[in-house]
Amino acid sequence: MIPFLDLKGINAQYKDEMVEAFTKVLDSGWYIQGLEVKTFEQEFADYCGVERCIGVANGLDALILIFRAYMEMGVLQEGDEVIVPANTYIASILAITENRLKPILVEPDLTTYNLDPTFVEQVITPRTKAILAVHLYGQLADMPALKAIADKHGLLLIEDSAQAHGASLNGIKAGAWGDASGFSFYPGKNLGALGDGGAVTTNNAELTQAIRALGNYGSHKKYENIYKGVNSRLDEMQAALLRVKLRGLDAEIEQRRKVANAYLENIKHPDIILPHVGDSQAHAWHLFVVRCKKRNALQAYLVEQGVQTLIHYPVPPHKQQAYLDWNDEVYPITEKVHKDVLSLPMSPVLSEDDVGTVIASLNRFSK
Ligand SMILES: *Cc1c(COP(=O)(O)O)cnc(C)c1O
Repeated sequence: MIPFLDLKGINAQYKDEMVEAFTKVLDSGWYIQGLEVKTFEQEFADYCGVERCIGVANGLDALILIFRAYMEMGVLQEGDEVIVPANTYIASILAITENRLKPILVEPDLTTYNLDPTFVEQVITPRTKAILAVHLYGQLADMPALKAIADKHGLLLIEDSAQAHGASLNGIKAGAWGDASGFSFYPGKNLGALGDGGAVTTNNAELTQAIRALGNYGSHKKYENIYKGVNSRLDEMQAALLRVKLRGLDAEIEQRRKVANAYLENIKHPDIILPHVGDSQAHAWHLFVVRCKKRNALQAYLVEQGVQTLIHYPVPPHKQQAYLDWNDEVYPITEKVHKDVLSLPMSPVLSEDDVGTVIASLNRFSK
């Protein structure tokens, strides 16, 4: 079976360096908030092209803490409206509701699966205070347009960059477009730890201070607590491993682009809609997502051909039990996306043979 994602193969590329990094941390006797985290934060900030990075426990916490910090700073108030794509992974929305802010779900553009700036402008009210742009599947949202809207209406622009490490548009990377950005280092993400991890990037010094304190029991200084904080920190061990993998990230993204280009050039089937790519650098190919009206049949057929695929995502947030109040709301584009999408095998270590097998299998799917 060609796996959807060969995590073991990805991490095997770095085995010697990772063992060395692990040993260094083990032998240091220092496992929380030390030099590895501090160094990784600087390296990741430099990579993204921002001044600051704060390591946190996971991607959801990164987003939760961004909103929480803006609330503590008095920039956001309970009940303020935050525009968010209706077809995002539920974590984006959880970060909003966790802070008692109000998500305003907006339909995506059907060609990119990212926020449609036209729809965004239509839902802005005096209560709107922020846009949470999600770079879904690894492709940057239309940030120039969203930034123009945010500036015009005085809104915060926050990025959910959990799927888009290394994607860039007009030379500006994911994580550097908004007022702040949340990243995830969940193992399957483009920059993945061996466990959970996350980070916030920003140029805002006050926000950085607030997030650092909030993630550390609300404390700037030992035994002085200014907020009712949480414990959300990136471990030294994960930071040390991430430093190794960050050095290989651009090469991995290039490998992903090769796989994506092979798919884009060679998959030819009247019922399979390939992803649209505006700018080649804007897509870091976390996922290669096709659309097909016979999605479930296609997925079952591919299993028979020895090709594993996944669905990102089978059920949209507004249809989840967690958001029962929204279950009757109708988002036709979002619902269509969730019904039709299928994610093909994608990884920097996918062999040319396997890519060929995936392409040939798809092209043979009954018409
Ligand atoms: C993975 C993901 C998150 C959450 O990150 P975790 O590290 O798993 O908490 C948030 N948003 C999006 C779009 C994601 O893909």
